Amino acid sequence: MRFASVIVDVPVKQTDRPFDYEIPEKWIGIVQPGIRVNVPFGPRQIQGFVVAVKESTTVEKTRPITSLIDIQPVLTKELMGLAHWLRDHTLCYTISAYQAMLPAALKAKYVKWIIARDVTKLPAELQLFFHDTDRIKFEELSGTNHFNVIKWLIEENILEVYYEVKDRLSKKTHKIIRLNATEEILVQTKNELSERAIAQHKLLDFFLETKQSEIVKKLLLEELQIGVAALKALIKLEVLSEEDVEIYRDPYLERTFTPSSPLPLTYQQNEAIGPILDSIDGNRHDGYVMFGVTGSGKTEVYMQTVDRVLQKGKEAIVLVPEIALTPQMVNRFKSRFGSKVAVLHSGLGMGEKYDEWRKIHRKEVKVVVGARSAIFAPFENIGIIIIDEEHETSYKQEDTPRYHARDIAMERGRYHECPVVLGSATPTLETFARASKNVYKLLKMDKRMSEQGMPEVDIVDMREELREGNRSMFSRALLEKMQIRLERGEQTVLFLNKRGYSSFVMCRDCGYVVECPHCDISLTYHRSSNQMKCHYCGYEEPVSSNCPSCDSEHFRFFGTGTQKVEEEITKLLPNARVIRMDVDTTRKKGAHEKLLQQFGDRKADILLGTQMIAKGLDFPYVTLVGVLTADTMLNIPDFRSSEKTFQLLTQVSGRAGRHNLAGEVVIQSYSPEHYSVELASHHDYLQFYQKEMQVRKLHQYPPFYFLALVTVTHQELTKTVAVTENITRFLKQHLSDNAVILGPVASPISRIKDRYRYQCIIKYKKEPNLHSALKSVLDKYQTNMEQEKLAVHVDLNPYMLM
Ligand code: ADP
Ligand code: ZN
Ligand code: ZN
Repeated sequence: MRFASVIVDVPVKQTDRPFDYEIPEKWIGIVQPGIRVNVPFGPRQIQGFVVAVKESTTVEKTRPITSLIDIQPVLTKELMGLAHWLRDHTLCYTISAYQAMLPAALKAKYVKWIIARDVTKLPAELQLFFHDTDRIKFEELSGTNHFNVIKWLIEENILEVYYEVKDRLSKKTHKIIRLNATEEILVQTKNELSERAIAQHKLLDFFLETKQSEIVKKLLLEELQIGVAALKALIKLEVLSEEDVEIYRDPYLERTFTPSSPLPLTYQQNEAIGPILDSIDGNRHDGYVMFGVTGSGKTEVYMQTVDRVLQKGKEAIVLVPEIALTPQMVNRFKSRFGSKVAVLHSGLGMGEKYDEWRKIHRKEVKVVVGARSAIFAPFENIGIIIIDEEHETSYKQEDTPRYHARDIAMERGRYHECPVVLGSATPTLETFARASKNVYKLLKMDKRMSEQGMPEVDIVDMREELREGNRSMFSRALLEKMQIRLERGEQTVLFLNKRGYSSFVMCRDCGYVVECPHCDISLTYHRSSNQMKCHYCGYEEPVSSNCPSCDSEHFRFFGTGTQKVEEEITKLLPNARVIRMDVDTTRKKGAHEKLLQQFGDRKADILLGTQMIAKGLDFPYVTLVGVLTADTMLNIPDFRSSEKTFQLLTQVSGRAGRHNLAGEVVIQSYSPEHYSVELASHHDYLQFYQKEMQVRKLHQYPPFYFLALVTVTHQELTKTVAVTENITRFLKQHLSDNAVILGPVASPISRIKDRYRYQCIIKYKKEPNLHSALKSVLDKYQTNMEQEKLAVHVDLNPYMLM
């Protein structure tokens, strides 16, 4: 008798441990750690992950596993261990950690197929199942005793398991026209056909001449310049047939990539790559901070380290923030490594993501380039992990499990004994502080590749502009420089920092601001629909012409949205061709890339956009970058707001003059004296780092102190406050006097979707009891959560304090 220890898919405290089940005889050898099974749990059937297989159990009465979900492990041994780390360091349940590591498709509804790659190689007992098809549903086999053979055939690549996601959005098919007749019949049909059926003749000729047996319908119609009627006629005669065929959903498949070869490295690049190559060759887990200004050639260095890793037969993970936003980066990797690269990012549909994940799982690719969750790529022989733009907040997951990709990278790096490279022009204070203490090794690249050096940055005081009578959102200096670019045929990038309260509606008489009735934030004006929208809950309402509070007519929009900027440009520079990139113009899939392509092809003079244009763009003719409002982010109640402002301004400035033409940057600001604005204009990271470290030390923030955030939400205010008070008191009792416990206080956004939000912040240096105390808090309220709709979240090392 064999038994399997299973973690069931019920994320509560009581089930956060393995339960033992009997393995039916026919599945012995198949059931192994990392596969998923269905098991009876009380009266229900639920999913679970097998964590161990053993010869005996201490449980008196065990029930058998009901069915198999996988035949091959979906999680490696390493990832299963990593799940424990996640559980302990983010205070989640083991099952949530497992789920976080799998692509969404495996958690959705799907049909599981067993596909025969070569039916002739199948043993007789299985040929029966595949006698007229190359695929059968997994369930058809589940009653049989053939599982050991099947498992072996999968390992030999004769059979394949495929999860077909039942997700209309992601499943892509195209119609195929198939030839059903012999050449003879084609000729015969042709002879019997009326002379006037020209289109049908064309079709028959096509198949006779090309001897093709199938073709994509759309291509066929285009090629022959005919309509569907003729096709239908021949389908009716059963000469042709039509069929839906699923296409492989590689979004980059249709595009061609010009292959690129490694460039000879510069002195600076050689200095940086040397130590990393040593770590790769010596199989050492070293952490590196590649502190390189924008355009210093970091990406080329990344690619050449990946080269070395591939030469050694190992694999590489490259994290890039939301790469849907930087197709240029993907292109560079695809051009260099071709089909060895899988791409994982949030712009992909669920099915597409699954396809990419499958390539990794099947070891068909060696490199994954992806956003945050790509850090869990199921590689088993990793040679390097690279995190580009290390400072990006999107590397922190804001949902359970609340992990940071950087921490996972370090864990995996330790396991695989490989280097981890954190690259940025503006590393986070936490990371740079570690480099200063030699926890990470610092690699500096302070010269740009181009001759031009860093662009000249001008700060314009917008208060001064106003004083001198300029009411436009463009300062005179910026406008003049834009004009010059137009005359010279060069390009401008205009950046609007829209986060914050940019386009709210306010009454100028009574100060009334339109707010969401469910969330305590102001509504944002959307011109295209003439609606006011809440960005938290989606609530919308039409814009009224008079103030709802005092009926004044002086009720108008404040701040600037991208549309408004566009209108103003059209007024001031009527000849300028503008491309606007914001959530509205990029909602459609692929729109983002298309707009960037147009700009790259110089079909526009000005690229106007929000955060999404701040990163990774690299256009040779951009010689001017304008930041319309530098300080909206400074006003956000977050101890990182200066850091974020500095990072953003530095990133944006880096878009100018990356090639042979010199670049200029104009930053418009209402607080030009602020050190983050001032120092960004001098590209002076080190000074910013020192200044900001002093501020952090003074106020006891990271990296001097660790933070933990407890957030409580409930529909009733009194309940919310009471629970937060209890938690705060409990923590005060259980933590040392050195811990600073702030709260209970209302969260900066004190209500979302009709739920009140309160928080408690813990600042600490060393609190051995903290995790267990927080765990007890979570466990205590977990039972209340369902009954009373109370939610308690713990975020260790939070990035959002809202
Ligand atoms: P970063 O990633 O630091 O912003 P990039 O890797 O994008 O910098 O490099 C900036 C530009 O310099 C790119 O156009 C890149 O192709 C080019 N480049 C990088 N390394 C070299 C090299 N060794 N020789 C020639 N050009 C290079
Ligand atoms: Zn709302
Ligand atoms: Zn009013």
